[in-house]
Amino acid sequence: MDYRIGHGYDVHRIEPGLKMWLGGVLVSSELGFVAHSDGDVAIHALCDALLGAAALGDIGKLFPDNDDKWAGADSKELLRIVMERVREKGWEVSNVDITVALQAPKIGHCVPRMREVLASVMDIEKDQVSVKATTTERLGFVGRGEGCECWAVALLHR
Ligand code: MG
Repeated sequence: MDYRIGHGYDVHRIEPGLKMWLGGVLVSSELGFVAHSDGDVAIHALCDALLGAAALGDIGKLFPDNDDKWAGADSKELLRIVMERVREKGWEVSNVDITVALQAPKIGHCVPRMREVLASVMDIEKDQVSVKATTTERLGFVGRGEGCECWAVALLHR
C-alpha cells in the first residue's frame, strides 16, 4: 500500500451580516465570512490538504478567485471536484482531520453535522472525518473575532 499525507490551511475575515458556512453547515450567527466563494474556510483547508497529498496543486489554482465561475460558489461543490481529481489519480481517503480556530460563535454543537455532511460529500464514512473546534483564548486576530483560521490534514492510500 502506498500512502500520501497532505496539509491545508486557510483564513477568512469575519464581518457582521454575512452567512457563516463552515464544514458544509450553515452556522446560525450574526457574523459571517468575507470571501469570493461561500467562504467555507474549513472546506478550503480540507481541499488543500487533499490536493497537497495527491500533489495536485492548490485550491487557488483549481478555482481562481478572479474567475466569476466561482463567485459565491458552494464549497461543497469544490470539495466534490477535488475528490474527483484525487480519485482520478487512484487515491482513496484514509482519514481527514480538521481544526477550526474561531472565537465566536461557539460551534461545538455543529461538529457532528459537519462530519456527516463532509463524509457524504466525500463519499467516505463519518468515522474517517474528524472536526475539532477551539478558540485562541482571545489572543491574536482570531481571538479578537476578526477572522477564522483552519488547518486540515488528509491521509490518502492506493
Ligand atoms: Mg478560502
